[in-house]
Amino acid sequence: MKFRAKAFEETLCGILAADYATDLAHANKRELYNAVSKAAMREAYPMWQASKENGRKRCKYFSAEFLMGRAIFNNLMDLGIIDDVRALLQKYGHDLGEFEEVEDAALGNGGLGRLAACYLESAATKGIPLDGYGIRYRYGLFRQTFEQGFQHEEGDDWLKWGDPWSVRVDRDAVVVEFSDLKVRAVPYDTPVFGYGSDTVGTLRLWSSEPVQAFDFGAFNEMQGERKAEENFNATKICDVLYPNDNTMVGKILRLRQQYFMVSASLLDLVRKEKAEKRDLRTLPERYCFQLNDTHPVLAIPELLRILQREGLTFDEAFDVCRKSFNFTNHTIMAEALEKWDSLALSDLIPEVYEEILACQRRLTQETGNKKLFIVRDNVVHMANLALYVAGKVNGVAELHTGILKRETFRDWCAQYPEKLINITNGITPRRWLLLNNPELAALIDAEIGKNWHTELSELAKLKPHLPSMLEDFKRIKGENKAKLAAYIKEKEGIEIPPAFIFDVQVKRLHEYKRQTLNALSVLYFYFGIKEKKLEIPPTAFIFGAKAAPGYYMAKAVIKFINEIAALVNGDPEVSPYMRVVFVQNYNVSYAEKIVCAADISEQISMAGMEASGTSNMKFMLNGTVTLGTMDGANVEICEEAGRENNYIFGATVEEAEAVSRFYCPRELIAQNPALERALNTMIDGTLPDETGCLKKLYESLTTGHAPDRYLVIYDFADYIRAKEELLRDYGSEAFWMKCLYNLASAGKFSADRSVCAYAEQIWKI
Ligand SMILES: *Cc1c(COP(=O)(O)O)cnc(C)c1O
Repeated sequence: MKFRAKAFEETLCGILAADYATDLAHANKRELYNAVSKAAMREAYPMWQASKENGRKRCKYFSAEFLMGRAIFNNLMDLGIIDDVRALLQKYGHDLGEFEEVEDAALGNGGLGRLAACYLESAATKGIPLDGYGIRYRYGLFRQTFEQGFQHEEGDDWLKWGDPWSVRVDRDAVVVEFSDLKVRAVPYDTPVFGYGSDTVGTLRLWSSEPVQAFDFGAFNEMQGERKAEENFNATKICDVLYPNDNTMVGKILRLRQQYFMVSASLLDLVRKEKAEKRDLRTLPERYCFQLNDTHPVLAIPELLRILQREGLTFDEAFDVCRKSFNFTNHTIMAEALEKWDSLALSDLIPEVYEEILACQRRLTQETGNKKLFIVRDNVVHMANLALYVAGKVNGVAELHTGILKRETFRDWCAQYPEKLINITNGITPRRWLLLNNPELAALIDAEIGKNWHTELSELAKLKPHLPSMLEDFKRIKGENKAKLAAYIKEKEGIEIPPAFIFDVQVKRLHEYKRQTLNALSVLYFYFGIKEKKLEIPPTAFIFGAKAAPGYYMAKAVIKFINEIAALVNGDPEVSPYMRVVFVQNYNVSYAEKIVCAADISEQISMAGMEASGTSNMKFMLNGTVTLGTMDGANVEICEEAGRENNYIFGATVEEAEAVSRFYCPRELIAQNPALERALNTMIDGTLPDETGCLKKLYESLTTGHAPDRYLVIYDFADYIRAKEELLRDYGSEAFWMKCLYNLASAGKFSADRSVCAYAEQIWKI
């Protein structure tokens, strides 16, 4: 599908005139942004409408997070009009690039939310009817700044530029009921375009409002006060995204958000089914639901409740749920698996809690297996509820699914051996290569044509051509690095020469991701250079990460790295060889600029902890070698591109499990003076520690009951070995061929492949 440029221009001018009383020559940036977006929406409307009404079975993707990033460039590209629009704006003295100021839609924390966004785009591209359902948070993930090296958080006003890509659908509003409060849920629909596709998906995000506007007519002192309170609570539900990634915070407001989102989605859907006089027992013929982690698992008891209210028996309703719900597990970390207090649930949503108890009873009857439970000791285990009812449960990389089968969900697998399957995560090659690295994309086009845009496995056809691409590849990488360096200079005020090696670790800040390990290696190089004991080619160590505001140790790591940056960059003896920068407010748009400019992709989580990872795939797709552990999808990256073409180090899952039991980091530190020196900077005054957080970080690695839980010390020596090998190899022809070979082997990691696997193996569409 491609618009005719002339029709687009007419629509655009019409909107500028009607909504802003202006024209193409006089509109300001904000007016232009809104009008261009609205014009694209208007032109694409018939296609969107046709997609909704095509009568096919649809999958509804329930997720508390959608990390969409900036919509406008991606949408114009997917619609095939980005070049026309750029030219049109240019004719009137505007620059499409000015829309870089538009805020990201950051309604997600990290990988899980970004995965949801990639899947929506891929499904639309592949013609799979997939719609997202979630929450329209008023404020997305906080904006991060650094002050004296400490993280500060500000509200993320993502609607500042308006939200021209959504439409409010009052007609579909529903009322969600808690025991103490009724809330109006109003949907905002955003079209999800596919690349060169007629299929348009819908992202439906619910916003909470008071059931009725404040009623002055009925005002009396008592009632008025209660109403005002209710109104306050109703809007509060969607105020803000919880900023915790991979940790469970048992807050009632969070529980309200989860129930609000699933209840609204299901009430709306069942109402539509009834309006069409459908037999609700046949609902699985028309819909299925994918639960993205445990956050939306309350959808199961909620659908049970609604269906019984509509006259189905429990068994009939249960049968519908079994056939329609599926569940994706994203983590094995105990602190991330959601559990809710029975009392909280029975207080807030008593009828839903009754359905959970009914599931527990049915589980006991069906299996008689005492090892399996949903509710135990007054705690509801949300993953277990999903494991019991869902038709299919999937892990997100081979290694992760293996651990789920062998360990985390072993008893469930013994009972239901067919249920658990693997679908390895993927990323959309449109945003993560075509859009963010157009020069490299054009180079690939010139070699093998454009089919790879929607069939990423075709990248393998590059393999015979790699040597001839080498010079262009190096030039393009160099240009991307220069652009990133200029951007970092502008945003962070830190100079990194583009000729330096760009060694990058960007992802949420988490102890298991081990930014600390990377930071300690930076100190190792710093002292080595300072004392003239070692030499490395000039390298810039680039970090980007947000820490959950309540995660003390993660914030300590940010302070640690920022102080290392000040030490290194401020030392004239060392700064010709090293720079360190921690970029502020890492988000999707920053990621787009970073992944095309990296020389090294740091994927160094403790083995067994990172379920899949997706930034590892973004770097690979942009022709970057991985310095990583045998964890998550890194294992499959090595399978595809060859372990010898990446830099692998550290304990394996088996080794990590074995070591953890009888492990004393202090012995290893005593044997490694360079590591000791690096660690001591946390406590010997080398780095300022105004709050004592670096000392705490030091203690977490060295003392107490179970020090160094994530084996930073244990893996340090092998990490240095791999990193030094990489730095030695850098710049050789063999090294550049490794980069290109990774690019040519990235086909498997397309989200197109993932969503097609979901459609075939789970959704049956
Ligand atoms: C891809 C992405 C992530 C996920 O990164 P991992 O390294 O896989 O954890 C997180 N945040 C943003 C902004 C991303 O684009």
